[in-house]
Amino acid sequence: MEQLFTPLPPVPDHPRLEEEILQWWEDEQIFQQLREQNRGGPEWSFIDGPVTANKTLGVHTAWGRTLKDVFQRYKALRGFDQRYQNGFDCQGLWIEVGVERQLGLNSKREIEEYGLEQFAAKCRDVVVKSSEQLTRGCKRLGQWMDWGNDYYTFSDTNIEYIWKFLKVVDEKGWLYLGHRATEWCPRCGTSISQHELTGSYVDRADPSLFVRLPLLDRPGESLVIWTTTPWTLPANVAAAVNPKAEYGRRLNGEWVAAPRYPDEDFDERLQGSELVGWRYEGPFDDLPPGAAVEHRVIPWDEVAMDEGTGIVHIAPGSGAEDFELARLHDLPVLTPVDEAGRFYNDYGWLHGLSTVEAAEQIIGRLEEKGILVEAGLYEHRYPECWRCHTPLIFRIADDWFIAVDDLRPQLLEANATVEWVPAYFEKRMEDWLRNLGDWNISRRRYYGLPLPIYPCTCGHRTVIGSKAELAERAVEGMEQLEELRRPWIDRVPIRCESCGETVERILEVGDVWLDAGIVPFSTLGWENPTWIPEGYATGAARGLTHADLPDHAYWEKWFPADWVSEMREQIRLWFYSQLFMSVVLVGKAPFKRALGYEKMFDENGREMHGSWGNMIEAEDAFAQMGADVMRWQYCQQPPTQDLWFGYGPAREIKRNLLTLWNSVSFLIDSGNIEGFSPSWSTLEPSGDLRPLDRWLVERTKQLVTEATDAYEATLTVDVVRAFDDFVDDVSNWYIRLSRRRFYSYDEPAFRTLWYALVQSLRVISPVMPFLTEHLWRNLVPDGPSSVHLAEWPKLEEPDVELLQEIATMRRVVNLGRKARAQSGLRARQPLRRLIVEGASLSDEHAAQVRDELRVKKVEVGPVEATELRVKPNLPVLGPKLGKELGPVRTALEAGDFDELDGGRFRVGEHELGPDEVLVERTGKEGWAVASADGVTVALDTALDPELELEALVLDLIHQINSMRREQGLELTDRIRITLPAAQSELLQHEDWIKQETLAVEILTDGSSAEPQIAKA
Ligand SMILES: [Zn+2]
Ligand SMILES: [Zn+2]
Repeated sequence: MEQLFTPLPPVPDHPRLEEEILQWWEDEQIFQQLREQNRGGPEWSFIDGPVTANKTLGVHTAWGRTLKDVFQRYKALRGFDQRYQNGFDCQGLWIEVGVERQLGLNSKREIEEYGLEQFAAKCRDVVVKSSEQLTRGCKRLGQWMDWGNDYYTFSDTNIEYIWKFLKVVDEKGWLYLGHRATEWCPRCGTSISQHELTGSYVDRADPSLFVRLPLLDRPGESLVIWTTTPWTLPANVAAAVNPKAEYGRRLNGEWVAAPRYPDEDFDERLQGSELVGWRYEGPFDDLPPGAAVEHRVIPWDEVAMDEGTGIVHIAPGSGAEDFELARLHDLPVLTPVDEAGRFYNDYGWLHGLSTVEAAEQIIGRLEEKGILVEAGLYEHRYPECWRCHTPLIFRIADDWFIAVDDLRPQLLEANATVEWVPAYFEKRMEDWLRNLGDWNISRRRYYGLPLPIYPCTCGHRTVIGSKAELAERAVEGMEQLEELRRPWIDRVPIRCESCGETVERILEVGDVWLDAGIVPFSTLGWENPTWIPEGYATGAARGLTHADLPDHAYWEKWFPADWVSEMREQIRLWFYSQLFMSVVLVGKAPFKRALGYEKMFDENGREMHGSWGNMIEAEDAFAQMGADVMRWQYCQQPPTQDLWFGYGPAREIKRNLLTLWNSVSFLIDSGNIEGFSPSWSTLEPSGDLRPLDRWLVERTKQLVTEATDAYEATLTVDVVRAFDDFVDDVSNWYIRLSRRRFYSYDEPAFRTLWYALVQSLRVISPVMPFLTEHLWRNLVPDGPSSVHLAEWPKLEEPDVELLQEIATMRRVVNLGRKARAQSGLRARQPLRRLIVEGASLSDEHAAQVRDELRVKKVEVGPVEATELRVKPNLPVLGPKLGKELGPVRTALEAGDFDELDGGRFRVGEHELGPDEVLVERTGKEGWAVASADGVTVALDTALDPELELEALVLDLIHQINSMRREQGLELTDRIRITLPAAQSELLQHEDWIKQETLAVEILTDGSSAEPQIAKA
């Protein structure tokens, strides 16, 4: 007979079936069909946060990609029209640092010698290659996107949109050039902004120096200062004391803060304020910059008394607070090191040394001069560059900033309109916005968006807002402008409107988060008058994408995004930058809902690092666990907790998924044998259903409802939980109790199980698109060709009462099993009766319980066959009763109490609540008792010859059926049994044995000690 369903192997080969499904999707254009099906439906706008195109797909990135895909698939099943545009982040230091390594370049000078044009070409190559690899990885993961119409942030169009934004910022008066101390990476040669600093602190040991500075007007006396950055000493201009603290002079003339040295004797004690104005000899007055400074003591309330000497060395060119103090006290600012962190020429013997190299020499010189009091090491948290891990320094630099204070209230207001999942992310964003300093947008680098700022010597500043405006204002160079990028853009000076002179662009490029933040405008065609086919594929993006530049009406339709999703750190990065830019441009948040999630570690909770050997490449994960299992691992994760990802959890998931696989396999095998032919047009079973069938139908509706709620709440963890529970119910309840009905053609059973499995595949298909597709194509021969084209199941209210009844019955069964386990009786030993108290059972359900627990009779009524033991719950009752506790305890022990309603008890004149006592029920002699949640069951454990004989019959049935399997008989094969003479008494139950073993005849024979079977 031809089989309708394809039999399944014992376990699925995930990677192989996934490759097959990918090919089939491709051949049948399933995704295109889905988009066609939903065209004209309601819109659901999702905007993809761009992934930096400098790598292959990692398992970290695959997490976010999975979540994005899951919700897009869910919304597609519900009929929503979507954009599916993928994005790549293509500029900035990540890319540059990679290319520098590849080319063996170690400084900005070497990049310039190499040539900016070639350097730009190399950077673009990285993006081209990486975007191909990322695309391949994401496709393998099962992510459905409009591949080929991706946005690339290095497109001229994207850059022009940022120019437009900056022009608005300038017009509002928020753009300014700041001269300030900033964290600086000497290797990258650029400043580090606030959002780049978070999380970049590491433990480091730095030199700890105590240095004596002789006082000019008090011979023989000196100040002692403490520093952990020796390289800043040549830039010292002042020493700060706390004016309110007490200072003391040691016997040797050294001044320090008295509270720092409580055990020392001092010759003289003065208030800090009395030290102010004292002049001293600088540590390096033998170098020209130091020699030119008059060093003096200044007051500073912030001088702490918990470390150092209480006298703080001030170098305004190398510290943020120092720089502020310089403004306040009109101190000179010495900037000792250049952009590469090397000493300037006028620092004599230090010239050309890095800050690290200089430390050694400085310590040596201090020693020679006899002013080094003590040198050691100091362990502290110190920031390093997040890209190259070079320790950061402070430097005075001119950077471009966007002032934040005017915008802050609007930013907070916009954030409050966003629905964050998990909810505490809203607070995190709020905290970030409240503490936000001005946005440092300039980087002294090469491969980034060119800041369109043209400051003229006459004082007039121009900010160019578009390429067209640039062409209008250009003096020359437009013809060679291949891309809006260095070096080409540097060759296009403009004419100053004010004085007519030629003005050069500043050399700085922009912070990459401008690139990503503009996306809700640049990709949706904000303020663009006419739709331009492939209008986004400009500049460096030409040839990489076919993305259009839509018109403003399109933007109106798709902005703001209904949903965005990224990991936690994006609070201060992409979530923030797009919120900021959107508030500037249109005064509101660019997304309505956002899903964030925590961090990923390896399966033992350690960070994954290439050098630790615990990094998992996505390619390896695809090959070894499969994409569905990866996706499952991501989806079962509560977003509020860190994910511990690995092969161990993957094996667990595979085992777990076998329950679904085996349930489908069971239906397929028995369906093939019995000739079951399902019909998609009459999906829901009807007609002559048994109570258990009706229950599964309702249970299935409940699954659909629960999963819908979970998807709507964007909580995949709840989807997975609901699905897991459901599959357990199907397998360990429905199939187990109904197994026999599948050995002959019981149509309601087949249709009910088919319905339940088909609906469950639809519900879980967004999470596990491959396995569900594979099973769908097998199980649903006459329905939609793909589960992803089958739309979302109809939402129907489940019959809660029925579900409740079955839940109660299952609770009774579980308690019965527990009681049986306590009694030590074998599961195959039939028993006389079970008494149930605290739950009602219909006759049908009582019969079910009887079968499940192998008892002859189930009675509902009071369980008197128990001994009730009540003890005081001491932590609660002790404080309440005080010295009355003793007598109450004695009375409880003696059983001298009355049981009241609701778990309360009366002891003498005290009434005790359920939380004040610990209740234990044990069976009296001959009874096994179990109790939970107000339901108690008691199992009569008395045996008699009849029950004992039945147990032997059950043992025999079990033995025969095992032999059937061992001998490889088909489920439907009939057999003959030959029993040893000693077992002849079992023939009292001959019919029962025949029925359970498909035996046509049972003989007895004295010749063998064991039963024998043969195919009939
Ligand atoms: Zn760096
Ligand atoms: Zn001018």
